[in-house]
Amino acid sequence: MLKPTIGLEIHAELKTKTKMFCGCPNDPEESHPNANVCPVCLGHPGVLPTANLEAVKAVIKLGMALGGNIPQKAKFDRKSYFYPDLPKGYQISQYDEPLVLGGELAGVKVRRVHLEEDTARLTHADDGESSLVDFNRAGVPLMELVTEPVIHSAGEALRFAKELQLLLRYLEISDADMEKGEMRVEANISLADENSGEFGTKVELKNINSFKAVEGAVTYEMERQSKLLAEDEKIVQETRGWDPIKAKTFSQRVKEEAHDYRYMPEPDIPPMDFAKLGEISLDEIKSSLPELPWQKRKRFAEDYALQPAQVDFLVADKPTADFYEEAISEMEENDGGKNNTLLFNYISSDLQGLLKEANLKTTDEDFKITPAKFADLMALIAKGDITSRAAKNVLSEMFKTGLDAHQIIKNMSLDEFSGEDKLQSVVREVIEQNEKAVADYKKGKENALQFLTGQVMTKTRGGSKPDEVMNLLRELI
Ligand SMILES: [Zn+2]
Repeated sequence: MLKPTIGLEIHAELKTKTKMFCGCPNDPEESHPNANVCPVCLGHPGVLPTANLEAVKAVIKLGMALGGNIPQKAKFDRKSYFYPDLPKGYQISQYDEPLVLGGELAGVKVRRVHLEEDTARLTHADDGESSLVDFNRAGVPLMELVTEPVIHSAGEALRFAKELQLLLRYLEISDADMEKGEMRVEANISLADENSGEFGTKVELKNINSFKAVEGAVTYEMERQSKLLAEDEKIVQETRGWDPIKAKTFSQRVKEEAHDYRYMPEPDIPPMDFAKLGEISLDEIKSSLPELPWQKRKRFAEDYALQPAQVDFLVADKPTADFYEEAISEMEENDGGKNNTLLFNYISSDLQGLLKEANLKTTDEDFKITPAKFADLMALIAKGDITSRAAKNVLSEMFKTGLDAHQIIKNMSLDEFSGEDKLQSVVREVIEQNEKAVADYKKGKENALQFLTGQVMTKTRGGSKPDEVMNLLRELI
């Protein structure tokens, strides 16, 4: 049996105020080419880079969250290569003394995490003759995480990448949006006989810029290699790209060995010794760690008695999880987990639907529903003072106006139908207008009653309770 072995290398741009080795703004939203540049990030000769300690702290924070080892000393190195996106001919990176060694995430062992600078962005013109270079991205702090080759399926690789994105967001060190290129995944894949104890020839996959591509590219490559091996063909050690349209990997170039990069210590940046570097306190970073995704999952499962899938849904977006918790704490009574599920249901379906439609997030200023107002509405539903149908209308109105539930109900005159007399008049009206359904019901057709109930509910805009309506209908027919 052939067993696939996968190792991941994941890059993420850190969201610091300034770039890695100069004072230029680090602004991923900047759309005017070459606006945030200076001689340092343009790679002019003779300039002096200085390390951005916010970026160093961010990587240490990640290392601590992973449970990795933070060596007392770290240094930067020059990684030589020539390409138009890197005019100085080398990238400042870290070779043998990275910031983080070891760690674990989603059951996958991490080998190291280091810090380097991003390259310029190249745009290839349509004529195929020329390329444009934008240096806004050049010198943006970039962290690279390398896993041990211990992943054996595309699903496992995908889980790891998703969990890392979530962790980076919880730590608030990167937005890690793959579509914007803020997080990029590379995968090393080899296939070998299960019992051989050796690795096969390694192929490196690049250009993986979505979670869908992580799964697609890894799956395709495992199948391609096992077909070749089944036909006694050799695997070429190379770098392959992923074509999302053809859903295929394609050969890019034969892989360089590590020594081709001619690593050498960066002479312009002093090595870091955290015992002596006053600006960085490892204790302070450690105490600044927030509740981590897996810790939150455990607590949510215990405190709110939610199902694992419900917990995953909330924890996958920290603002949503926060909103849920704040709303829960606003609710007066917490009757044995019933309200926990009620709140979850309204947040995960109705509220998400409204947010999606308006292209809003709960953290946006235009989002007008406070957890307290949301909790008030949930309490009305829990007490049976309002039907779920009316609640949908109230929520949608609250989303638009930010008014509280009682005010909305008053404005929409939903409450005018709650009195029995008013409801009776509507029921009478419906009976008069639907002779056929009434006759059907009298003949014993139960679903005619359902139909009539629906008519009453529509007329009262959901402001009445189905049970009550049905009883009244039975009485009055
Ligand atoms: Zn600069």
